[in-house]
Amino acid sequence: MTKMGLAVLCAGALCTSGALSACGTYKPVEAASDQTAVGDGQNRADGGDGQAAADSGDSQAAADGGQADGNTQPTPESSRNEAELTTAKPPEFDEVDETVYVKTADGTPVNVRSSCNKQNNSNVVTTAGAGEELKRTGISEEWSRIVMDGQVYYVATAFLTTEVPETTAASNSANVEAGEVKLDASWKYADFSKINSGAAKLYRSEAENRKNKTICVNAGHGTSGGSSVKTQCHPDGTPKVTGGTTSAGATSAVAVSGGMTFSDGTPEAKVTLAMALKLKDKLLANGYDVLMIRESDDVQLDNIARTVIANNTSDCHIALHWDSTTNNKGAFYMSVPSNQSYRNMEPVKSHWEQHNALGASLVAGLKSAGVKIFSNGAMEMDLTQTSFSTIPSVDIELGDKASDHSSATLDTLADGLLAGINQYFGY
Ligand SMILES: [Zn+2]
Repeated sequence: MTKMGLAVLCAGALCTSGALSACGTYKPVEAASDQTAVGDGQNRADGGDGQAAADSGDSQAAADGGQADGNTQPTPESSRNEAELTTAKPPEFDEVDETVYVKTADGTPVNVRSSCNKQNNSNVVTTAGAGEELKRTGISEEWSRIVMDGQVYYVATAFLTTEVPETTAASNSANVEAGEVKLDASWKYADFSKINSGAAKLYRSEAENRKNKTICVNAGHGTSGGSSVKTQCHPDGTPKVTGGTTSAGATSAVAVSGGMTFSDGTPEAKVTLAMALKLKDKLLANGYDVLMIRESDDVQLDNIARTVIANNTSDCHIALHWDSTTNNKGAFYMSVPSNQSYRNMEPVKSHWEQHNALGASLVAGLKSAGVKIFSNGAMEMDLTQTSFSTIPSVDIELGDKASDHSSATLDTLADGLLAGINQYFGY
């Protein structure tokens, strides 16, 4: 994580001369997941005169939370530390009045503290998630002063940005009318779509416990003529990095494939549609809004159009499929290939961790509903859907050609998917 040493030294220097503010104890704030044993006895090096880390070069180590320095140890004298911290003065802030967003390299939340100090976590009031919007009223090199619910708090400046995150800008369905949603040519990546005369449909939940989250339910396949049109695999034109319906090395793939046929003769597209309709009902009953990509045997939307519509109207995108093996191997999700060039390509780079986290949640939900899971529940696959997704997005394979797809089984699968969605969004 970000090193704070230099900044703390700065803050310390200011502490000795800077104006007193409302800040009592202070610590650098860092990504919440980084905070382990932050305390470090070295800030006593200046003799316990109440200035804490003010003038000791050694105190830089303390600010790093022991992540970089092997010699940092939790202090045995925490009470003395606390006394020093409560008398330390805050950094000088430049007054600002702006909206900022939480931005961390790995999407983890950051700590929101009551003081500018991270010697321990006793001043952590709450955390702010990646992409969360905050009001900043003061800024120093190391610390930002923010106002939340009328209270003044402090967050590390390194984890805030004034740039609107892509997910915040794109994943909100609040401005989209319920009803038919067509591909908007101005949306990012819309140009890559070749089949887009059809429309998805947005449903608002009327349940009491509305969640203000829109789930894109994408019944796999079901675009007549889709397999005779090709679309680009990656937005940057690079070739696919894994095999699958389209082999590795290809730069274009069928716009929408026809899907497999179950061992009992049922087309996959019929079953994914039945599954989508069941999932829609459960989601709406549980307070989720739902974007249905299709509700009939044919929708003229290719995989890119489906993905781009989801990107701009939904908070996650779940494509429903069954695999083409014949051994009833169980359910799994298509995870983002651990291929550096692929993971470095936007929009995969900014979203692949979200895709995998959503996939893992869905598999956990299915497992909790008693659904058989294949292997570890994930298979790496370079998919068009993943390659153009700017929201958490997963292709889930709910079984294969030999799997039972009776109404009762689909009900169980829908329960599992709902449990997984709840887990992902923290409900
Ligand atoms: Zn499929």
